Amino acid sequence: MAPKPRKPPKPMDFTLPDGQRYVQVGAEPHELRSGRAMSLLVLRSECPICGAPFLLKASRRNAAARILSRRCPEHRIPGVTVEKHKARLAAALARQTEAAARRAHAAALLAMFD
Ligand SMILES: [Zn+2]
Repeated sequence: MAPKPRKPPKPMDFTLPDGQRYVQVGAEPHELRSGRAMSLLVLRSECPICGAPFLLKASRRNAAARILSRRCPEHRIPGVTVEKHKARLAAALARQTEAAARRAHAAALLAMFD
């Protein structure tokens, strides 16, 4: 029996449990240090911090294991999860809001003595 012609691999599109979507837009040849040739997936996603679309590269194996860049180059923080990053931003916003409320209160108190 003749071997079946090799089908091109299916595009690697998937969504993470938190809703971040990855769509494969291409593939790129890549040579390992060992000299072995492989191809990297070129994926498109949207940064969960700012919403900007960005491209990233990943091996098929890393994509399958969901080992991927989550954020655009501007917001990438190695070692900090997206969840922790969002919590930091929320805490910073809460501090700003609180400081603004304190300033408004102080201004209102001062106005009483005008
Ligand atoms: Zn971003």
